[in-house]
Amino acid sequence: MAVLQSCRKPLTKTARRTLTYVCHVARSTPSPTTPGRQSAMRQQKTKDTAPERALRVALRARGLVGYRKHYRALPDLRRTVDVAFVGARVAVDVRGCFWHGCPDHSRRGTANSAWWDEKLARNIERDRDTEQRLSESGWLVLVVWEHEDSDEAAERVSDVVKARRKTHAP
Ligand SMILES: [Zn+2]
Repeated sequence: MAVLQSCRKPLTKTARRTLTYVCHVARSTPSPTTPGRQSAMRQQKTKDTAPERALRVALRARGLVGYRKHYRALPDLRRTVDVAFVGARVAVDVRGCFWHGCPDHSRRGTANSAWWDEKLARNIERDRDTEQRLSESGWLVLVVWEHEDSDEAAERVSDVVKARRKTHAP
């Protein structure tokens, strides 16, 4: 961790808070009921996360192969769609419970919550903005949460894509 390697300099307030949180997380025992916290321990990785890969496997198992991953659906924005069915214009956003403020596993009301709430609020705001821009460009946005069963999520995606392929035939 870069912060730990530069200990000669006094830590900034933000770095101290981050370290406190990281130590707190490292001490707590992971439990299957808290996927959000586990994802925080895996650090903020935005591409090819485990839930993304699980969803793609489940989609392929249903014969749904015509997707693009990390697709740049909005050319003037650097944000990408995790799983995009371009013809049907269905954008699947796979969201980590912790970083994207899942209603069931979002981290609230604990130590340093103001700092985290602000960070999470920014992520949530950006998600909403992306969603809005995508739907303005004719995309249908489906959100899949990290805690969801990948087979159930794939089933939901599959139904929508098949229905949209009928109405959005190229
Ligand atoms: Zn969740």
